[in-house]
Amino acid sequence: MKLELRTVRAALASPHMAGHGTVAERDLILAELRAADGLSGHGEAAPLPSYDGVGVDEVAAALQACGPVLEGYRDASPIADVLARCSEATVLPQALAALDLALWDLAGRRLREPAWRLLGAPAPLAVAVNWTIAAADRSTAAREAAEARAQGFPAIKLKVGIGDDAARLAAVRAFAGPQMAIRIDANGAWTLDEAAAALPALEPAGIELCEEPVAGLDEIRALHGATEIPLALDESAGDPEALRDRVADLVCLKIARCGGISGTIDAARRATAAGYEVYLASTLDGPLGIAAALHAAAVIRPARACGLATLRLFAGRSDPLPPNAGSITAPRGPGLGDGLLDWYR
Ligand SMILES: [Mg+2]
Repeated sequence: MKLELRTVRAALASPHMAGHGTVAERDLILAELRAADGLSGHGEAAPLPSYDGVGVDEVAAALQACGPVLEGYRDASPIADVLARCSEATVLPQALAALDLALWDLAGRRLREPAWRLLGAPAPLAVAVNWTIAAADRSTAAREAAEARAQGFPAIKLKVGIGDDAARLAAVRAFAGPQMAIRIDANGAWTLDEAAAALPALEPAGIELCEEPVAGLDEIRALHGATEIPLALDESAGDPEALRDRVADLVCLKIARCGGISGTIDAARRATAAGYEVYLASTLDGPLGIAAALHAAAVIRPARACGLATLRLFAGRSDPLPPNAGSITAPRGPGLGDGLLDWYR
């Protein structure tokens, strides 16, 4: 199999503010795996340097290192075998994710089956998704909350630790209505003392959960006993110890960080066995990454709304996977699905 790579720069419609920094554009790597029989599968690497500390050049080099390994493979080798050999060439999950996605896409195209069926799911899943508010100002956040409500989203995610949190949250609650689940995400920006002070102050607005309030497993464990608000691991879920013993209530898993569909399903099994509730989210992925998460979700069946409605945050590209009344279903077609590649023009 032959691997071809192309970097795609996609601008966001407005800067995405988070505790870890501001993102204005995304560099994604489109990976095409071409088999000798003429079929090809596509995957995507979506490293987010401000989130996972991994740069696009690093991932491109890792993928290039896998090229010779892939050339040694025949068309229909088991995906797990190919990934195991590639993981000897690189340990970067963002790179392995691109290959995993391309391999599932290729296998599905060869068998003319959608990835969810190859993964053993009985049917595709309409995955409930949250609206993400990345605006740091109150009036934009409130306007977005009203829009999320009007479009039927079941949940909103609000970034905190970026200033004016309490007033912005109150505005969002007022415009989202009492039924909306509102989750907050500090991206580890708070210290333990700051989190211990902020969470009780924000709690009266009604909070579904708080993602990564503080940075690191030990800090989250320390905070866990001190608040009623359910806590979720996100950045800390990448710690090799994270899924062994439960240190929070939930864990947010991402295709790019888990090494693709296979790695995400495996992580979800381990997390569930440890007692976590699991949900999925994107690292501002392109449509291949979002579709991959939707196929994985058909097996994982997440307990909460997932952070997969992020394609609307990009500028000048039409969303091939638009939410419908607050949920998204994997696209039709074989492999990861049809109609996803125009986005990467
Ligand atoms: Mg998060």
